[in-house]
Amino acid sequence: MTDANEDQPFPVTGRCHCGAVSLSAEINPARVFVCHCADCQVLTGSAFRVVAPVVPGSLQVQGNIKGYARTADSGAVRWQFFCPECGTPLYAGAQGGVGMATVRVGVLAERDQLRPTAQLWRRSAQPWVGSLGDVPACERQELLG
Ligand SMILES: [Zn+2]
Ligand SMILES: [Zn+2]
Repeated sequence: MTDANEDQPFPVTGRCHCGAVSLSAEINPARVFVCHCADCQVLTGSAFRVVAPVVPGSLQVQGNIKGYARTADSGAVRWQFFCPECGTPLYAGAQGGVGMATVRVGVLAERDQLRPTAQLWRRSAQPWVGSLGDVPACERQELLG
């Protein structure tokens, strides 16, 4: 498997965990970002989020979604869209519009071909993310004993 790394539109497809919502879009593989901001940590329930801006106008969504409006410190309103059945985060964008959306890479079938090209908000990154390779690991969950 080779990584998508050319600076040209790359088609992606995705779906939520329960399957009620699916999406397709085109992204630029040179613009795949890890975001360490506090909002992403809370909204994912994890340490960081991996996102990719879609090519404007390319995002298509099938199924009902729900949106949550987040007002940034700057006053800008950004909508977080998710599956109302299973809660899977899908994308962020303007209300009612999918033009300038940013898709959540974890829902994409092609996620193993997409490598981050930059990290955002590193100032709020959890202190261990840079040394994750040093943490004891197992192939499944053997370490849980
Ligand atoms: Zn779902
Ligand atoms: Zn973020």
